[in-house]
Amino acid sequence: MSDQPLLEVRDLGKAFPGRGTEPGRWVIQGLSFTLREGEFVTVVGPSGSGKSTLLNLLAQIDAPTKGEIRLKGEVISGPGSPGLAPGSGGRVGYVMQDDNLLPWRTLRANVEYPLRIQGRLDAAARGRVDALIAAVGLAGFEDHFPHELSGGMRKRASIIRTLAYDPPVILMDEPFGALDAESRMHLQVDLLRLWETGRKTILFVTHDLTEAIALGDRTLTLTKSPARIRGEHPIDIPRPRCIDSIVTAPGFPSLFGRIRAEV
Ligand code: ADP
Ligand code: MG
Repeated sequence: MSDQPLLEVRDLGKAFPGRGTEPGRWVIQGLSFTLREGEFVTVVGPSGSGKSTLLNLLAQIDAPTKGEIRLKGEVISGPGSPGLAPGSGGRVGYVMQDDNLLPWRTLRANVEYPLRIQGRLDAAARGRVDALIAAVGLAGFEDHFPHELSGGMRKRASIIRTLAYDPPVILMDEPFGALDAESRMHLQVDLLRLWETGRKTILFVTHDLTEAIALGDRTLTLTKSPARIRGEHPIDIPRPRCIDSIVTAPGFPSLFGRIRAEV
């Protein structure tokens, strides 16, 4: 692990203009943090606190009003950077809240899609896609279309679609929020297993404190509007973690209490 952070966010601000005569509003202001390579960082904040806006800025789907974002030291967003480059040339993956699968493509074609548009869909990449499909229990469903899959299966597909092209940073926006408790836990276990074997750097946004603690190396809390980092909590529960009994892990209750007090 080098000393240089993989991702660096400095004094980030985002204001949306008001409608008609309404004044504009800062949704994010003075927000700074760094991500080290291989870290799994969770971000918790109430609904409407600017979490998706933050991820949109990091993914370069939207431009900050203030501050800068650096990837391996290079300014990718902020004053002096060239225009928006969504996904920073395949270096930042984004699993959005909705699964965004293409309805007219099969599961396999959806998972292969980013590799195909990046011109990287060779035999090795196809092998990796097969392995990921098997790893999340979707073998046998490769030729199904999204409408033939359950919500949990579509979510798995959208996660491995991002893992398949191997971006150094992956952003996830409440990816399991819409699922039932059972599917949610399965996916949390799958995600940790994939992360532990592949060691991606992940920034995972959730409003579920238990999920934030179960998954993260560190949990960041956000202030109420405008959002900046309020607190930072190292999660020292050893890995591999037992997700279904995480609430009984030593240290869980006090961590939960401290994070709870901030959101
Ligand atoms: P969260 O993901 O934490 O629920 P969001 O980032 O989606 O919150 O939204 C934060 C605030 O910014 C909300 O009040 C929302 O209405 C506002 N907002 C988000 N996107 C826009 C936009 N494109 N234009 C104006 N306001 C927006
Ligand atoms: Mg959101």
